[in-house]
Amino acid sequence: MIHDSLQHQGMRRKLVEEVARKGISSEPVLQALSKVPRHLFMESGFVKFAYRDQAFPIGAGQTISQPYTVAFQSQLLQVEPKQKILEVGTGSGYQAAVLLEMGAQVFTIERQRELYIKVQQLLPPMGYHPRFFFGDGYKGLPTYGPFDGIIVTAGAPFIPEDLKQQLKIGARLVIPVSTGEHQVMTVVERVDENVYDEKQYGLFSFVPLLKGTN
Ligand code: SAH
Repeated sequence: MIHDSLQHQGMRRKLVEEVARKGISSEPVLQALSKVPRHLFMESGFVKFAYRDQAFPIGAGQTISQPYTVAFQSQLLQVEPKQKILEVGTGSGYQAAVLLEMGAQVFTIERQRELYIKVQQLLPPMGYHPRFFFGDGYKGLPTYGPFDGIIVTAGAPFIPEDLKQQLKIGARLVIPVSTGEHQVMTVVERVDENVYDEKQYGLFSFVPLLKGTN
């Protein structure tokens, strides 16, 4: 791993302990969090913030999600090795890296060209190889689906029908759904061809899921 010092590893261990204390119990999720060098996903000079449990600006008005939130969504997704996972909202690529550490095959979409380009220079040298797509995540990736899981990392005003359609039977969509200022973390499970089960898991704060590309 490039530029990952003992100091970084120490700070990361503390962060993982903090996330576990806040209620994340999935061993594969905590393991993945302990491996991804979050400081490399942020602007240089912010190393001391990288291992705080906070969201952070990454340019283009977007943020790298809070580690607890990344862990919470990853846990809800119930990822198994080799599974095909779609992520909507690549952003910094941090969430994608966590899913890759969990052994998933990751397809990730971003609507901001600047971030889409930046992340493709950042992740592969670290050994992370998701498949990158530029486009509007509301539509998903119909030609690559159906997926074993879909994770949306921006606040959606509603649950996009296209994403539900791209779930395998038994697969789950983890999506923060807006109720004004905050979002309700929602899991939609496709129990049968036309049967979906919906559960809610508390309030979070995300940047908005926007239409079209930029
Ligand atoms: N998963 C990211 C979180 C980034 S914030 C990380 O780990 O860093 C959410 C991201 O979703 C932003 O980069 C934003 O540009 C992107 N986004 C918003 N609406 C989108 C859409 N319709 N399709 C794809 N990406 C979208």
